[in-house]
Amino acid sequence: MKLIRFGEPGREKPGILLENGKRIDVSAAVTDYDEKFFGGGGLERLREWLGTNVATCPVVSDNVRLGPCVARPSKLICIGLNYAKHAKESNMDAPKEPVVFFKATSAIIGPNDTVIIPKSSRKSDWEVELAVVIGKHASYVSEADAMDYVAGYCMHNDYSEREWQLERGGQWVKGKSCDTFAPLGPFMATRDEIADPHKLKLWLKRNDIMRQNSSTSDLIFNIPTLVSYLSQFMSLLPGDVISTGTPEGVGHGCKPPQYMADGDVIELGVEGLGSSKQHVVSYS
Ligand code: ZN
Repeated sequence: MKLIRFGEPGREKPGILLENGKRIDVSAAVTDYDEKFFGGGGLERLREWLGTNVATCPVVSDNVRLGPCVARPSKLICIGLNYAKHAKESNMDAPKEPVVFFKATSAIIGPNDTVIIPKSSRKSDWEVELAVVIGKHASYVSEADAMDYVAGYCMHNDYSEREWQLERGGQWVKGKSCDTFAPLGPFMATRDEIADPHKLKLWLKRNDIMRQNSSTSDLIFNIPTLVSYLSQFMSLLPGDVISTGTPEGVGHGCKPPQYMADGDVIELGVEGLGSSKQHVVSYS
């Protein structure tokens, strides 16, 4: 299944993107794609319910806004420097253990929403990523069992303010958490939809110029490793999102560096997880 959320910001309803491209409203069966939904067997129940009700679900028009594909999670955890070439362009060594940071969940927006370059920002940058959505409470999970805790996958653009991330001291969180810096979607694909999450092409264009073009086969730490690793330090809750890192081709790695400007159009895609487009404006 491909899960979508649609409607005005903060008032999204749950829906499904069907194989024929049609979007349907499933709010008769589901309140939202949140912790309670994922943790309470909601995916299985929804699949069963759709078996008999799909034909009678209201159709959602193509011009209705898509929201983030899952409800605001308890955590949006990101992995840094998880592609060897990206670590290199960042002038950092490939990490021996996963680099972990948080991104404020208030940064989450819909996949095609407008992205705002924050007030006083000079170094706003892009990062296409494969994100994982957790399906059940994970604590001290082994790598062998880790995939059982994955509900599905979605695309994330881990927008980053490099000056605030790297030049202002301390953790990366300041440069990662600005409002609108985390478009999620267009949809969450359930785990069964993606045969091998470690073989997905992912790409990003800025103003029609390809900037990132890679594959998740280049991940340093794969999904079972990340889920298991994180669960040794904290409980992962149903609906939590783990963003697995970005490949090379970020603006900060260009020579000379390139950063986003008012009027930019950023387009990105991950194989099997759709594509999205974000218009960029300066804070005003
Ligand atoms: Zn990232």
